[in-house]
Amino acid sequence: MRFAASSLSGMRLRKHGVSSAALTRTTVFAVKWSNINGWMLPLMFVRPIIFIGKNILDVQLDGELADNEALAPLVHQYCHAHQRLQWGFASYIWRHLSARLVARWKPIHHLQVEREPHEMINHVYDYYQPGSGGVTNS
Ligand SMILES: [Zn+2]
Repeated sequence: MRFAASSLSGMRLRKHGVSSAALTRTTVFAVKWSNINGWMLPLMFVRPIIFIGKNILDVQLDGELADNEALAPLVHQYCHAHQRLQWGFASYIWRHLSARLVARWKPIHHLQVEREPHEMINHVYDYYQPGSGGVTNS
């Protein structure tokens, strides 16, 4: 499936920093493989493809993504899709591989290439935290 930037799902994802370019150019597959949180497949001549666990995805009855923290894994993978689109295939692979090779001792979310996606998902979790900025009366 693909989420148009102007759709309700697209707007919910963009609210958390997903770019409309990534939205329009990325295809999402909900898969049943167990334990798959989210995975972005960077192919050379093909647009980015995201695989996401069916059980993780929270789809409302109207087919739109629910406005809750279940968006976080998708936001993370869309961020990688954006990196792939911005850097190009070769640089994307190179940056991710070299980051992992050079910094093997670091926790994965401290890598340069993972910092932005992890900041984005932290914002998603903060946003839906009761009493935080997302849900206020004022
Ligand atoms: Zn990542």
